[in-house]
Amino acid sequence: MRKSKLSVPERNRRLLKGLARENGTIDNAELTDQLRVAIQRAEEANRIKSDFLAEMSHEIRTPMNGVLGLAHLLRDSNLDKQQREYVDGIIAASDSMLMIMNDIIDVAKIESGYMTLQQECIILEDLICDVIALYGPRANQKHLDIDCAIDPTLSPRWIGDPTRMKQIFGNLINNALKFTDTGFIRVRILPRGDGADGFLCRVEDTGIGIAKAAQGKIFEKFCQAEETIFRQFGGAGLGLNIVSHLVYMMGGDIWVESEPGKGTTFAFTLTLQTALSARDLSSTKTNKEPNGKRRDYRHLRVLIAEDIEMNMMIIDHILCKHHCRPDKAANGQAALDMVMSNNPYDIIFMDYQMPIMDGLEATAKIREFEQTIARDPVVIVAVTAAAMVDDRKKCLDGGMTDYINKPYREHDIMRVLDEWCPSASPIVRQEPCKD
Ligand code: ADP
Repeated sequence: MRKSKLSVPERNRRLLKGLARENGTIDNAELTDQLRVAIQRAEEANRIKSDFLAEMSHEIRTPMNGVLGLAHLLRDSNLDKQQREYVDGIIAASDSMLMIMNDIIDVAKIESGYMTLQQECIILEDLICDVIALYGPRANQKHLDIDCAIDPTLSPRWIGDPTRMKQIFGNLINNALKFTDTGFIRVRILPRGDGADGFLCRVEDTGIGIAKAAQGKIFEKFCQAEETIFRQFGGAGLGLNIVSHLVYMMGGDIWVESEPGKGTTFAFTLTLQTALSARDLSSTKTNKEPNGKRRDYRHLRVLIAEDIEMNMMIIDHILCKHHCRPDKAANGQAALDMVMSNNPYDIIFMDYQMPIMDGLEATAKIREFEQTIARDPVVIVAVTAAAMVDDRKKCLDGGMTDYINKPYREHDIMRVLDEWCPSASPIVRQEPCKD
């Protein structure tokens, strides 16, 4: 079962063209004009909806950073069994709320044309292993075998968007796990067989299956195969809609093969170029420590610029847990002053929105200062609650080095440290860390 691949604005444009053709553009010029205005208004309304979602998302993500961050801090403290269960409940509920919010934002991005894809070199096997590693524990819990095989004739490296590709695989594997109680989940990556660049992927499970009648609608928004599914398994019915749009954006196609009671296979193709040139390969990102050694973060000189005390406490606690002792600034101006008066920092976590001076302005001034004294640019990581518009690009264009979204987790902070601070500074701070 497959569905229409066109985005809403593209569908509107084609509709207009088709009507103009049917009616004859000259005789029915007035009708065509009216249609054009109606479509422009509809597209404008869609943009306003997306901007509203962006704003709401920002407002919700900021307190969510507090809820999730504090719940994790609480879980790290001394709790009895029952208290731990309560905290785990808070974390699980916050996680599902966040997942739904992320899905709603993705749908809005797709519908308004804000969704863009990165072009990076991907090592296919690493990408799949990362996804499987994420879902492996859940498969173990359910006593399900989960295995993956990549056809050896396929190129190991491709150019594409690793985050969005992981989202596609993750969503399909997550569904397979959700709807399977016995048997296995099998991921296969194969040549496309139609001569086009890219590959074919199959995610197969031995779960409850999907009735023939429902197969045609599961890629629609807010759709679940049956009423009982929601009651038993939850979910907002957005995952497959997003996955199908991402697959189409990557020049592919997606379909489902299923038999109730036997299992389901989601198959999709992606049209991607292989990464062959030296330039492609040098852009491959890896944050794995050679020899699997643990890093020592003790001597890193870290500055946190954050105006909300609770968020400052959360990031400070995460860093202290890894023996980092960060300096703290309550706004961009204070961060700039500290950069100008102190020894150079290895890394700065810079909140995007702050009073007095925001993160972007502070970054611009820090970069200016570095040029005047010919100092190497410090790593500046934007920390932002905005998730809708292309803030990543804004931050990178504004001189920042990397970007993390609120609510962030310990592994987001550690990923950034591992990626950007390969060597520890020899300077040791004296003050004790307040836990
Ligand atoms: P949800 O978050 O509600 O699961 P999805 O868009 O991911 O939303 O899936 C839509 C519906 O498709 C699910 O509610 C379920 O009815 C059906 N479905 C998806 N994947 C599977 C699967 N592997 N096995 C059985 N049913 C599935």
